[in-house]
Amino acid sequence: MDTANKSARQISLERAEVLKSRIDPYLEAKMHIPTGLEQDEVIKARQAKIKEGLGATDAEWNDWKWQIKNRITDSDTLAKFINLTPKQKKDIDAVTKKFRWAISPYYLSLIDPEGDHYKDPIYLQSIPTGLELKEGIGEADPMAEEFTNPAPCITRRYPDRLIINVTNQCGMYCRHCQRRRNIGEIDSPQPRENLQQAVDYIKNTPEIRDVLITGGDPFTLSDENLDWLLGELDKIPHLEYKRIGSRMPVTLPQRITPELCAMLKKHHPLYINTHFNNPMEVSAESKKACEMLADAGIPLGNQAVLLRGINDHPFVMKKLCQELLRIRVRPYYIFHAKGVVGTLHFRTSVDIGIEIMEHLRGYTSGLAIPTFIINAPQGRGKTPMLPEYLISHGRDTITIRTWEGEIITYPNKDAEVEYE
Ligand SMILES: *Cc1c(COP(=O)(O)O)cnc(C)c1O
Repeated sequence: MDTANKSARQISLERAEVLKSRIDPYLEAKMHIPTGLEQDEVIKARQAKIKEGLGATDAEWNDWKWQIKNRITDSDTLAKFINLTPKQKKDIDAVTKKFRWAISPYYLSLIDPEGDHYKDPIYLQSIPTGLELKEGIGEADPMAEEFTNPAPCITRRYPDRLIINVTNQCGMYCRHCQRRRNIGEIDSPQPRENLQQAVDYIKNTPEIRDVLITGGDPFTLSDENLDWLLGELDKIPHLEYKRIGSRMPVTLPQRITPELCAMLKKHHPLYINTHFNNPMEVSAESKKACEMLADAGIPLGNQAVLLRGINDHPFVMKKLCQELLRIRVRPYYIFHAKGVVGTLHFRTSVDIGIEIMEHLRGYTSGLAIPTFIINAPQGRGKTPMLPEYLISHGRDTITIRTWEGEIITYPNKDAEVEYE
């Protein structure tokens, strides 16, 4: 850098120009990545049509039980609201015989009825395509969850924390679901006895300090049942906090009611992780749901899955992460998609995930940067994947690469002094 005849201010201004140029391509691309909030008027117009088609009042539309009861689960009803080619309709019918699907009227309103559905991140996540049936070689249970089940409903794969699966029911049956084997045709919320046995296991296992309530979607349970479970967990002295994993804020945001929030608020410390995959899902409704939960004092995180055609691009993922922070959701994980049968068409290389991470660090706020995770096969655990920043490792120095690609030598030594 030529600093000889320049003021500090001049140098800073020139540096600011360089910094801005680093994100010029993103600033340009970002304008063409739609969010639900930006599309609010269009979405509201679609909602009016869907309401009319289903004969719903506004009050019904805003009622989560109505949204669940009126989920669309067959191609004839779907075809009333969005264009389907004969092939698309035939594919849906064929998949319906093998895998469950269901889309809430709300989530349906995020789909462009006349668009190219195979480019629509909402359609691809919710409506079956023929690709689901073309896959012979996936596994049903790549995580070997069946062998990490020390008590009913429990998956334990880590020393100090575990999962309670409270139901197989969800607001929507995501096409990329990694627990597809549990999603039968029949809803089976766990009976109270099983949940009691899970609670008892935790009670008798003092090293467990963190419980993650998941499913299925725990918010398909009634407020009363969840209140009971959280209350039982609150009584366990060694349990330091609880977490809930739910996609309802995204797929059925009407579920987040003042009553639910008032109930949850009694059970702090409580954390919620949700599952946004694309900026189109950040809508007026999902924003409101997240804000209500955040106002109830619940820190919110997001666990996205890296999905081909849905978010496998650095700029799409960056916009998603930035939009999430605006609705008070902190990006937590991006998962590499596992090889679950029926979902293989969503798989991406690991490389694209690493490339996404490369385009986040430095280019945007640390708050917007989740951890990219591979779930090691057979339940061997979450394994973080990062671009290489540590280039080489000498005895007293290391060589690092900065986010802009500068190679720098950096000391790697303890201070050699003593207190006198
Ligand atoms: C993902 C997971 C957890 C939680 O992991 P964190 O990294 O703490 O979020 C706990 N138990 C099981 C079995 C899991 O798969």
